[in-house]
Amino acid sequence: MQAQQQTALIIGCGIAGPALALALQRVGISAAIYEAQETIDDSKGVFLGITPNGLHVLSQFISLDELAADHTSGNIRFYNAKNKWIGTIDTAYQQKKFGAATVQVKRAALNKALRVAALQKGILLHTGKKLAAINQTNQKVTASFTDGSVAEADLLFGCDGIHSATRKIIFPDAAPMKYTDLLSGGGYSRFDNNLPADAIHMTFGKKAFFAWAVSNRNELWWFNNIASEKEPGRSEISSAEMEALKNKLLQLHAGDPYPVEQCIRSAHHIELYPVYEIPFLQQWYTGRVCLLGDAAHATSPHIGQGASLALEDVVVLSNCLRDNAGVTNAFQQFQQKRKERVELIVKQARKIGDVKAVPNRVQRFFRDLLLRVFVKKEIKKMDWVYAYKADQV
Ligand SMILES: Cc1cc2nc3c(=O)[nH]c(=O)nc-3n(C[C@H](O)[C@H](O)[C@H](O)COP(=O)(O)OP(=O)(O)OC[C@H]3O[C@@H](n4cnc5c(N)ncnc54)[C@H](O)[C@@H]3O)c2cc1C
Repeated sequence: MQAQQQTALIIGCGIAGPALALALQRVGISAAIYEAQETIDDSKGVFLGITPNGLHVLSQFISLDELAADHTSGNIRFYNAKNKWIGTIDTAYQQKKFGAATVQVKRAALNKALRVAALQKGILLHTGKKLAAINQTNQKVTASFTDGSVAEADLLFGCDGIHSATRKIIFPDAAPMKYTDLLSGGGYSRFDNNLPADAIHMTFGKKAFFAWAVSNRNELWWFNNIASEKEPGRSEISSAEMEALKNKLLQLHAGDPYPVEQCIRSAHHIELYPVYEIPFLQQWYTGRVCLLGDAAHATSPHIGQGASLALEDVVVLSNCLRDNAGVTNAFQQFQQKRKERVELIVKQARKIGDVKAVPNRVQRFFRDLLLRVFVKKEIKKMDWVYAYKADQV
């Protein structure tokens, strides 16, 4: 008699969710995705970097050429507060060494590409399904949603991001996430320019950090970090008026070099969100439920690894399910293969965040002296991150 196909509920259709559905399908597990948003907004979010380790996974599910139809370079040039060049990360070597080179893409475009790939493979996506409760027995797991509906399967995966309801439900006593006293802003602008499109330019400015790049479609993509001891509420951010926000950013970056002011003034899209850290969880799973991506180990954005780590998780987890008899063995092996690596990367991101935080004059003097050394050291430290091949661990 043929064994019944295993089934899974995936909570969240961000980056990890649809990629996981595709990876599970490859190993014979049938998954359906449950997403809180009623309609997925393809204009939300700004951009993110995908490094070779993430691209290695992504190329198994979507066309990287299609994704690169709208992108900025992954090369990075660093400048100090006096606008002096202090270092470059040139990503050309990555193509040779790792088979792919870092690229920056719009988060919404990446989400859409994965979502469409999943739908094309017949994976069901249920929207307007906000997870409210989980119940599990030895045999099954049931998810209840705020609209009153329920769904049942053999396994449940929390791919519901940094504010994960799955995490709060299965680990109610886990330490809550911490606001890091930093806001991350970002946006898109258009203005006449002859700026080079070969790198993202990052300035450790007087009052705040600012980065800009020109896309292949001649759009300016930028982000900054703003020190703010007060943690803004989520509604406060979403209601922030564009003009008020621009004025605030212009004040913060007054005196910063061209084209910072032009990026802010001519922005047609701006977002601002608080940067959080999640204290490390002891365990990422319980029973038939497992967390992955930001839900398990959100990292601050300073190292550009959030999406790549989520993509790595997807392949490692699905392969563990393929190779192990029993759910507990599979989840145990997944965590054992992933936790140490992920936590090292999260710690590295925190260190970079500390350098970006706003310093006083004396601190800034020493920071600028040490930045060149810091940048060189950090560049060398990244190769072990990029070399990772999720399907070979
Ligand atoms: C709208 C949005 C915009 C973003 N923009 C950026 C950006 O500009 N730059 C950047 O670096 N990172 C951004 N991120 C975060 C980035 O996508 C993640 O850090 C990373 O890619 C890891 O992906 P993930 O799938 O683990 O989480 P996410 O990509 O955050 O996906 C989580 C998904 O779960 C859904 N969800 C949340 N709660 C529930 C619930 N209770 N029930 C059901 N579904 C739920 C969310 O709506 C979301 O679709 C954004 C995330 C979101 C949700």
